[in-house]
Amino acid sequence: MKSIKNEAAAKCPNHCEPFDVEYWSLVSADQDPDLKTAILGGELNLVQCPECGTFFHHDGDLIYFDAPAELLVFVFSEKDRRREPELLARMQKDYELIKNTLLKQLQMDYPPVSVFGLEALKNILQKEETDLYESEAVAAAAADMGFQIVRLKPSYARANHFPFYVPAPKENNSANGYAVAASQVLQNGLNSLLLRNFVDHMSEEGALPPSVL
Ligand SMILES: [Zn+2]
Repeated sequence: MKSIKNEAAAKCPNHCEPFDVEYWSLVSADQDPDLKTAILGGELNLVQCPECGTFFHHDGDLIYFDAPAELLVFVFSEKDRRREPELLARMQKDYELIKNTLLKQLQMDYPPVSVFGLEALKNILQKEETDLYESEAVAAAAADMGFQIVRLKPSYARANHFPFYVPAPKENNSANGYAVAASQVLQNGLNSLLLRNFVDHMSEEGALPPSVL
């Protein structure tokens, strides 16, 4: 899916005359990594008022989509916060539509996330980067110990606060097998809250094995 630009009238916070701007309304992160970088840098949809010179973010609705990461975020305008129930209902409809048309071949099986404002989207992406970094440390530590590495389904890992990568069990692929392998990596000195949380959940009675890719 391609990223999309829209046109709208931007309103300067200093109450100057509105002016026309082009802004990104759909960011397809795997196609346009530069736009993801711009979100993290706070530069996406940043506009300048021609009258007073002030820079500000155009507060338009935006969809952020990263297919490989299984991350779909609806970003609503800050000023619409009061209309949250109505917006969530609309999001659900839009999601069903996108899922069954534009993205049909992807067979999406994870729900969308919603936030208000670009700052909140930036926070999600920063958290994502931190978790990915920690997950890579888990993978490296596990590989050093001779474990095979398994990639968890990203939306499943994110929703459960698990690392994106975990060591594969050496013997049986039960939840307990995963818990044993992961706790060996922790005992070897790796400090990872994501992996500790994974161990805790996999050790619970009746736990199901993780959802892997
Ligand atoms: Zn202005």
